[in-house]
Amino acid sequence: MDALLPPPKQIDIIPIATYLANLKTQKTSWIGGRITVLPQDRSYTQTGCADCLKPLEADLTWIVQCPTCKKECEVQLILRVAVQIDDGTSAIKTMLTSPIIEKFLTMTSTQIRNAEEVGENIQAIADRELNGQTIVAFARAYETTYQRQPETRIFLINGHRTKGESSHTQLIIDSKKRKAIETTCLQKTTQTETDMKTPTKKQKSEVTTKTT
Ligand SMILES: [Zn+2]
Repeated sequence: MDALLPPPKQIDIIPIATYLANLKTQKTSWIGGRITVLPQDRSYTQTGCADCLKPLEADLTWIVQCPTCKKECEVQLILRVAVQIDDGTSAIKTMLTSPIIEKFLTMTSTQIRNAEEVGENIQAIADRELNGQTIVAFARAYETTYQRQPETRIFLINGHRTKGESSHTQLIIDSKKRKAIETTCLQKTTQTETDMKTPTKKQKSEVTTKTT
């Protein structure tokens, strides 16, 4: 996965406000920001195909014929934690899952499942392990329906941990500049109505000028 999507160049990362404003025309983009763990009702662990990582109801010792990738494969633990990613312009809610989440954890997925099985507070563990870390991630939006209402969900196809001091944290934009970006996004949204083929590069460079 990493070989297909190496860490992006700074120019490829767009402000989350821009990403959200342009979702109708651009479903995917690199975004980045600070992680906050959200409250979660569902289990933090599940089992999945070791090859394609699609969830499977199976025991970890089984070898299964995966209905998704059709391969005969082992079963592995998959972690999933509901998070918010905020870059100062806006925030998205998404799931941080295996294999991306492991890059951010000091605990292994097995340790987390064992802790969950003995009734430890996984929310507290997830807070401690993940809160405040910064990520750059390749996001993809899907239209779906939830309780008969149209809903947009955002999934992370890939993600990389960034250090606080790295240049990526420049994308954590301070609130003074936030308004300027929001204004730019509004203009962009209006433009996309009339000009669907506006190159994304142009949008990026304009936003970059405002944020530097
Ligand atoms: Zn599979």
